Amino acid sequence: MNVSWQFLLIPFSALLLALALLLISRAIKRSSGMPEGKIVYADPGLWGKPEKPFYDSLLGLTGKPDYLIRRSQTTIPVEVKSMWAPREPYDSHVLQLGAYCLLADRHFGQRPDYGLLRYRNRTFKIPFTSALEEEVLETIQTIRGYKELDEVCRSHDQPNRCARCGFRERCDQRL
Ligand code: SF4
Repeated sequence: MNVSWQFLLIPFSALLLALALLLISRAIKRSSGMPEGKIVYADPGLWGKPEKPFYDSLLGLTGKPDYLIRRSQTTIPVEVKSMWAPREPYDSHVLQLGAYCLLADRHFGQRPDYGLLRYRNRTFKIPFTSALEEEVLETIQTIRGYKELDEVCRSHDQPNRCARCGFRERCDQRL
């Protein structure tokens, strides 16, 4: 059967269009700094989707990562900060990401090896080590204890720690 070349033109054009859209979407994703992988969750503030926060009743921990990305059967939290990247990620940001790694572990039953901290101009890969997990759990306990107090004072005399703190602009006890 003779098939006129015009009949092939339509599927061929559709294929080219699909390929062009795929390349454009990859370019947009790359320019936004988002890593490769399927996005399985996005904070509503960023994507307009009514997603519920993750909650673990045993830990008493709740949180909403900006994104969760599926990569090789593991779900990796991504926290996006609008500020320029500091030389090293702020401790509070690392702790926050660690809490999301813990929530992802509890929710999906698979521990992420790392999370991603995305600043405006740079992304840090933060390993979710047992030390970071321990720090998150200790912080949860500490915060629980603070809830009983009327006022909480600075717990250290380390200017470096304040310099790397994400709350320093709002904190009236910073050094
Ligand atoms: S800036 Fe404030 S909250 Fe941050 S480490 Fe210093 S005292 Fe603590």
